[in-house]
Amino acid sequence: MKSYECLFIDGQWVAPVRDGRFESIDPASEAVIASVAAATSEDVDLAVAAARRAFDQGPWPRMSGHERAQVLRRIGQGIRERLDELARIEVRDNGKPLPEAKWDLGDAAGCFDFYADLAAKLDDSAETPIALADERFTSIARKEPVGVAGAIIPWNFPLLMAAWKVAPALAAGCTMVLKPSELTPLSALELADIAAHAGLPAGVLNVVTGLGHEAGAALSEHPDIDKLAFTGSVPTGSRIMQAAARHIKNISLELGGKSPFIVFDDSDIDAAVEWIMFGIFWNQGEVCSATSRVLVQRDLYPRLLHRLAEETRRIRIGNGLDEGVLLGPLVNRAQYEKVLQAIARGQEEGARLISGGSRPAHLERGFFMEPAIFADVPVDSWIWREEIFGPVVCVRPFDDEAHAVREANDSRFGLAAAVMSRDLDRCERVARTLRAGIVWINCSQPTFTEAPWGGYKQSGIGRELGEWGLNNYLETKQITRYDSSEPWGWYLN
Ligand code: NAD
Repeated sequence: MKSYECLFIDGQWVAPVRDGRFESIDPASEAVIASVAAATSEDVDLAVAAARRAFDQGPWPRMSGHERAQVLRRIGQGIRERLDELARIEVRDNGKPLPEAKWDLGDAAGCFDFYADLAAKLDDSAETPIALADERFTSIARKEPVGVAGAIIPWNFPLLMAAWKVAPALAAGCTMVLKPSELTPLSALELADIAAHAGLPAGVLNVVTGLGHEAGAALSEHPDIDKLAFTGSVPTGSRIMQAAARHIKNISLELGGKSPFIVFDDSDIDAAVEWIMFGIFWNQGEVCSATSRVLVQRDLYPRLLHRLAEETRRIRIGNGLDEGVLLGPLVNRAQYEKVLQAIARGQEEGARLISGGSRPAHLERGFFMEPAIFADVPVDSWIWREEIFGPVVCVRPFDDEAHAVREANDSRFGLAAAVMSRDLDRCERVARTLRAGIVWINCSQPTFTEAPWGGYKQSGIGRELGEWGLNNYLETKQITRYDSSEPWGWYLN
């Protein structure tokens, strides 16, 4: 029977070897909502061994893509059937507003449907003939599952981040071990339950809840993991890369960002205000691709700041389960204090705080804060350059296109960027000069399962979603045959 105090290993709910637990907290009330199993390296060993057996001897990698697709579709359906209940679990674990949680879960279900279709297509597309110049040989390139995958995910979109890794890995025929964030572990355990009910064979998906430096580190260092897919912060990504180097592990990294949003002065001011707000206040700004640096052309700058502050003050803040709330609490006390410190630092650095940045008067408990707007942010300040991961937007004026592009690209990150103007030629031109993996024109944040997702520079390595996401979990094998009746004639002639 499913229990948050158990790990899901080899198709069974099992207590952790050392019987450790940690608590999951509701960030709106600060109350403990669950006691959760804390895996250690011994549990990770068991989970990896189960995934290894399922890969080396089990049916999953040997099934046709069509057969795997049926299971994936049932997982998507399982998420949809429990969508309301799962959304409430996400809200209580993470703090996000309920409509956002429902949106995430719809996307997560859609992700399983999408990769079900790609799994089915693999039956016909896995092998491609290669035209060789030497006609004595015939050759094919063949896609095969990479093996046992480890997936380590963050807390900002718990079940959706799991889906982005589990759906393509399973579609490819991999088996896996998933470690959710210790801040939001509950929905990954629910996913294990849904997958088991969907008929996923034992050992194909193992879920180990636990702390990053224990369970996460054990997974990233495990020699029997063939591929490690990580989403999280840059420092942890760097550690994962070092661990992977020891065993030359295939890795993909989705890391942080400090994404720019360029608004030209011919933009519709209402559209600009709304997309800026969506770009940084959606999900409390705890979004890797949040457009947290906004560059506004000088003529529009004062008017836009005024409207932005006015509309931002109207956002209803509160418990994500309450009707009409569009900004919930930050995920935990540490994140809350980190964001408050960033706001204090911004003020010390000479940026002008024109709205928000403190605890709302009506909310005494919980990790709530009013969304903050900084204007005239110095280009060399910490708040302009570093990821805050909270509802804090930094705004600066610019003079012309070249100036905007230069400042937008002046970052060690390159996850996303956005540009807004009525002049579409200008938008298309600017989009092509921005050094980022995702560029939005006249919007910010909409994300599509079909399109590639990932960053340039320190924002990561590799791409998730779309066919790129599937390729993350595939190896390419060359099979070449000598067809000539002539002897090779090198040693024997
Ligand atoms: P984090 O790096 O602290 O944790 C991410 C995961 O890594 C968690 O599961 C954690 O337990 C685990 N972990 C921690 N230490 C580890 C270690 N030593 N070895 C192995 N695993 C370890 O990140 P977070 O605070 O959960 O998430 C926020 C960060 O994630 C932000 O920087 C954000 O930009 C980034 N993010 C990126 C994307 C993207 O698609 N690029 C998406 C979401 C979040």
